Formats: sequence, structure tokens, C-alpha cells
Amino acid sequence: MSALNPRTTHYEFLGPPGAAAISLGVPFITYALYFGCSEHAGGCPPPLALAVLKDRVTAALADPAWWAALWDTEAALIYLAWYAFCVAAWALLPGDTVAGTTLRTGGKVQYKINAFSTCLLALGIACGIILRSGPAAFTFLYAKWLGLASAALLMAVAQAVYVYAASFRSGKLLALGGNSGNHIYDWYIGRELNPALGRLDIKSFNELRPGLILWVLLNLSFACEQAVRRGGALFHITDSMWLVLAFQAWYVLDGLYNEPALFTTMDITSDGFGFMLAVGDLLFVPFVYSLQGRYLVWSQVELGWVRAVGVVAVNLAGYYVFRTANKEKNDFRNGLNPKNLKFITTARGSKLLVSGWWGASRHPNYFGDLIMGLAWCLPTGFATPITYFYFAYFAVLLVHRQRRDDEACAKKYGKDWAVYTELVPYRIVPYVY
Ligand code: NDP
Repeated sequence: MSALNPRTTHYEFLGPPGAAAISLGVPFITYALYFGCSEHAGGCPPPLALAVLKDRVTAALADPAWWAALWDTEAALIYLAWYAFCVAAWALLPGDTVAGTTLRTGGKVQYKINAFSTCLLALGIACGIILRSGPAAFTFLYAKWLGLASAALLMAVAQAVYVYAASFRSGKLLALGGNSGNHIYDWYIGRELNPALGRLDIKSFNELRPGLILWVLLNLSFACEQAVRRGGALFHITDSMWLVLAFQAWYVLDGLYNEPALFTTMDITSDGFGFMLAVGDLLFVPFVYSLQGRYLVWSQVELGWVRAVGVVAVNLAGYYVFRTANKEKNDFRNGLNPKNLKFITTARGSKLLVSGWWGASRHPNYFGDLIMGLAWCLPTGFATPITYFYFAYFAVLLVHRQRRDDEACAKKYGKDWAVYTELVPYRIVPYVY
């Protein structure tokens, strides 16, 4: 096994100091976006002079009662029940088994495909509750946001500690980037490539189910809270809230419907499962990606037909680029080329597309994803830049991801990659970047 698990000699994310900073920074940003943008804090941001704000933050951080208020046992139990539901749905709902890409051992991980049906079941139950008992019956996720986020953070820490400790058992296949020997770095980046509990693959499970589906449920709860505040009927919900709910639910359902496409992504094929993915999947995705919906609960925006149609057009344009680009590559990687796209054949034997979307930029799918990200922020209007956090963060994430992938491809394809980058010079946005 040791020949298959060479030492990692190259650090990413600025090495151990960067890993430690991001490990603390992700929870910090999640809470900061709550306390800096919520009705409980007084606005988005709260209308306070900088000096007053600084005093308040210092006083809060020094107050044990403030720290204690981050924890809510009832919310933690709700979160645990939610996580258990996801595991039970994975185990009990029927689903095909799909093999992942070939590992360095020559084997393949077998994945059970039922994330989409898990999501439909969860949404069905939630909609059943709302239709039977009214929107007020589903506002508890909004009310318990803080406690739920803390529980998700604890779950991420616990899983990261567990998988890190378990990665030292013999016979484990490690991620090529997660075996540096530095505890903080390896814990953060992920040491074991495919940690599992029995047949449950921990990485893909967390990536698709408890966080992504909870994101939609949180949005649903925000819409219900808004409905209650606007008289109690679902048709009183603002058009902006409907759009955020529809766009993000569509994105999640689309991702889950195309579940097997996940198994060829960098997260699954190259990255280990550590705190980076655990906290991203379980905390950041549901609780930060849903910021726009949470904001619209109390800061209600009516777009009107013209602006709503404009925002829908932006989202559809992004979706079109995202989906067609991903489809072109997935088809191609599965041996199909229905559009007769041009490609080059590398010395390794695998081929790279050089026309169609993959001839326009080296990550056209990121470009489409970014356009959609913008469409999800636009319904919040322009009263605050904070609700555009997702777009800004996502742009940084995708640029960093593109650099990591380009570096990996340069290593994998050598001079063929140089030929490819000459043929396709733009990295994400055609003619711009
Ligand atoms: P990609 O789907 O872009 O895959 C990159 C890989 O594709 C490369 O490593 C290479 O692998 C292959 N490839 C690169 N160029 C070509 C080419 N010209 N022809 C054929 N194959 C090529 O990357 P990701 O896995 O990062 O992203 C998957 C999706 O997930 C994207 O749509 C992205 O937007 C989305 N995403 C969403 C996030 C979110 O938080 N919402 C976060 C991250 C990603 P090889 O040659 O080995 O096949």
C-alpha cells in the first residue's frame, strides 16, 4: 500500500497556516453572515457606526452567554434526525449501483444512486406538512437557523476527526494531496480518498444529500416564514422569494438527478475527505448559499414582471451554458460525440475537446454556473452588497478550482496540455479571463 500512497510534497491553500486559517475562517464567515445580515441583528448590515459595532462584537465575544446561545439542543436533535433520515433513505430507497472511476488500486468504488429520490421524498414530506397544516408549520428551520448551523458545524468537525483517525488503519488508499505528514494540513485537506462506513461512501453521501437537500428545505422554510408574515397564504409570497426558491431548488434537483456525473469530478476522483469538504458540504452549502432567501424573509422585494423576466432570462442563460457544457464533456468522456466536436488526442491516450463549449474556454461549465449564481442574488435588489456574497465567493472558488485543475491537467497531460491551452486560451469566461 505504501507504494500506492506516496508522500505529498506540494502544499495547496498556502500549506498548514492556510489550512488552519480556512478551518477557522469558514465557520467564522458563516456566523458573521448571520450576525451581519439578519433581522435579529438589526439589518443587513446592522445600521451601527463602526466603533459601536466593534464594541458590540468585543463584548459579545467576551460574554459566555453569547457563546452558549450558539447552541440549541432541540435544533441539534432536529439536525441529527435530518441526518439519520438521509442515511435511512440512502439505505432503504431503491437505486442502481454505479461504479466510479478506476482507482490507483485498480478497483472502483460502487455508489448507490438514490440522491434524487431522497430529495423528492424529503420535499414531498415538507410540502405535505405545509399543505396539511399551513406554512406556519414549516417555519421552524428559519427560527432555529443558528442552532441548526452549530449542529451542522459539530457534525462536520466530528466527521473530519473520525475520518482522519480512521485513515491510519492499514490498507487505506490515501488522496495524493492529503498525505503530507502534517496533521493540520492532512486533517483539513482530507487524508483518505474514499472513507466509508460499510457500503456508505462518506464523501459522495455528504456531497449530495444532507447539505444540498437541506439548502432547499431551508429556502422552503424561509418562504413559509415570509408567507406567514404576509397574511399566511402561499400566494402572498413575493416574486423575488419564489425566484430564489425555484432557481436554487432547480439547481439542486438537476445536480441530484445527474448524480453519476459527480463521480468524475475532482472532489471525488482526487480529493480526500477532510474538514474542507465536510464543512463545505454540511455547513457552508446549506447555511451560506441560502442567505438570499433568509434575507428576503424580512427584507421583502417585489420585482414586478419586467425585472422578474430579466432575472429568469439570466438564470436560463447560465443554466443553458452550464448544462450543455457539462453534457458535451460527459458525452465525450463516455465515448459519444453527437455534435461531431473537434478534439486532440494526448500521448496518454485520452482526448481533449477543442471545439464547442470546451473550445470557447477551459471551464465553460464554471462560466454558466457563475451566471446562475448572479441570477440567484439579483432578486434581493441592490440595497446591500452582502446578499451578493455567494456570487463573489463562488467566483473566487471557481478561479481557485480552475487553477488547481489546470495544474493537475498540466501534470497529467504534459506538453499536450500546453498545446491545448494554446488552442483554448481563455480559462473560464470566453474573451475575458
Ligand atoms: P470539470 O467538470 O470542469 O472537470 C475538469 C476535468 O475535465 C479535467 O480535470 C479533465 O479531466 C477534463 N477536461 C478538461 N478539459 C477537457 C476537454 N477540453 N475535453 C474533455 N475533458 C476535459 O470540473 P469540476 O469537477 O470542478 O466541476 C464539475 C461541475 O461542478 C461544474 O459544472 C462546476 O461548475 C460545478 N461545481 C459547483 C460547485 C458549487 O459549489 N456549486 C463547486 C464546484 C464545482 P480528464 O481529462 O481526466 O477527464
